[in-house]
Amino acid sequence: ALAAKDGRRSEIEIAPGVSFGGTLVPVIAGPCSVESAEHILACAQAVKASGAHALRGGAFKPRTNPYAFQGHGEEGLKMLAAAREATGLPIVTEVLTPSEVGLVSEYADCLQIGTRNAQNFKLLQACGQQPKPVLYKRGMAMTIEEYLQAAEYILAAGNPNVILCERGIRTFEDHTRNTLSLSAVPELHQRTHLPVVIDPSHGTGHARLVPDMARAAMAAGADGLAIEMHPDPEHAMTDGAQSITPEALTDLIVSLARVAAAV
Ligand code: PEP
Ligand code: MN
Repeated sequence: ALAAKDGRRSEIEIAPGVSFGGTLVPVIAGPCSVESAEHILACAQAVKASGAHALRGGAFKPRTNPYAFQGHGEEGLKMLAAAREATGLPIVTEVLTPSEVGLVSEYADCLQIGTRNAQNFKLLQACGQQPKPVLYKRGMAMTIEEYLQAAEYILAAGNPNVILCERGIRTFEDHTRNTLSLSAVPELHQRTHLPVVIDPSHGTGHARLVPDMARAAMAAGADGLAIEMHPDPEHAMTDGAQSITPEALTDLIVSLARVAAAV
């Protein structure tokens, strides 16, 4: 079900006019976490003004430290829905457990499966049994082959709308948080018909590296980008170091159009 179809992408629409795998290369942008109703609304307005196409933000956060902020949960989903109402932006948000898939699916336009859950096969199946598209991130220690076999769990459970996402893998290198494997774009394109998104934020861990890697992803043929943006990165509750400012996002989107025109 994953095999490439004459080099053609499946086009996966998360909301009217926002599809991955077609001519548009949508940018999903927003904070790592939904911090408050006011915060996500301000973020959504900045995302909209930048020209990006969808809003991201975590309500359920997979944290390394159990005492760290775990997200606002269902309240956070309601805050995201209000931000969508105000801006018209579709929302992409992570789901952590099979038992919360129904809840997240009621609010989200697209469900995100995170790197830490990439081989949680019960979660993959649960996301395969609900109707919303899935942004499925590669596990940080998965080979491409393992990633594709795991993606098949979602499709086999009944949901063909899977958007793949390379977000960096673990290597010995430590100048970045992860090593962004950009060759995953052409490799996945040659092996599957599913669209491929690049997340240069988790892929590098440093805001100063994000714009160049986003442009490189565009040049490599990515079908979309997922970018963390925060109005005040220094005070972000999570992932501030890799979050770009609204101004940087606006500049990036202008320059992405130049890259797209050049390749
Ligand atoms: C996120 O998108 O904020 C996130 C937790 O991503 P990942 O699963 O790629 O670490
Ligand atoms: Mn994050």
